[in-house]
Amino acid sequence: MNRILIAEDEPRISDFIRKGLRSNGFTPTVVTDGVSALDHAMSGEFDLLILDIGLPMLDGFAVLERLRGSASSLPVIILTARDSVTDTVAGLEGGADDYMAKPFRFEELLARVRLRLRDVGSQEATVLTHGPVSLDLRTRRVRVGEKVMDLSAREFALLEVFLRNPEQVLSREQLLSHVWGYDFDPGSNVVDVYVRYLRRKLGAERIETLRGMGYRLTAR
Ligand code: CA
Repeated sequence: MNRILIAEDEPRISDFIRKGLRSNGFTPTVVTDGVSALDHAMSGEFDLLILDIGLPMLDGFAVLERLRGSASSLPVIILTARDSVTDTVAGLEGGADDYMAKPFRFEELLARVRLRLRDVGSQEATVLTHGPVSLDLRTRRVRVGEKVMDLSAREFALLEVFLRNPEQVLSREQLLSHVWGYDFDPGSNVVDVYVRYLRRKLGAERIETLRGMGYRLTAR
């Protein structure tokens, strides 16, 4: 339940989605036009389709219409420009399960992907653990040893990325695009600020700084 088809012709956006999904344990495949999107979607080899509306050869609405016309029940999340609300409503009536307005933060898309896959019966862990740190994805509370704490939305999103990639060096850019979105100013120091917040809650030694490379969640 983790093979995801991404139909998106803008490389910046498809890269952003592909990398994010891969680091969260999904297996993404990218196609860049509507005809390939329909072919792949009909193959039965995918569990979910992320479908851009503005695609070459066959637009997202046409893909969706043909897909539903063939009685496919593949969950579909459509990607639409923020000023195309009318289109979006049409898309939902045309058989999409959900939509995302561009630009969006990766975590927002991830939440929708998980929701749709859960609909079709996937069993996903609801607690992520590394060393003494465990994060409950439903209550959004973190436990460190015996201590249980609440997290803000961004602290939660940041810690989730760390816990899904434990003992791995994550660059500031990776964290920024995961938690804050691809349109966020790359010169921002917001990642450092939130790492500091997390260290205050988890203990400073849990998140290592690797100068010039990024940060690493560690249990050592
Ligand atoms: Ca497009």
